[in-house]
Amino acid sequence: MPAPLPEPVIPLEQRKSIETLMAHDCRWPIGDPQNADFHFCGKQKVDGHPYCDFHVRRANQPTRPRTVSYPLLAG
Ligand SMILES: [Zn+2]
Repeated sequence: MPAPLPEPVIPLEQRKSIETLMAHDCRWPIGDPQNADFHFCGKQKVDGHPYCDFHVRRANQPTRPRTVSYPLLAG
């Protein structure tokens, strides 16, 4: 089994919030939605996937991220 890939560090200016995330941006959640530094990956996503190349591979690993809820979207 391959070792888990380390999470990339997204530069502050490239971080996307739910407001700034565009249709072509990777929507991989990073951090805790309860925290102010929660953000999305925001890299160019792969066609047919909601994630960038890195996170498409990451999502296919056995260790999946825990499901996050989006309280901002409720209601
Ligand atoms: Zn990504």
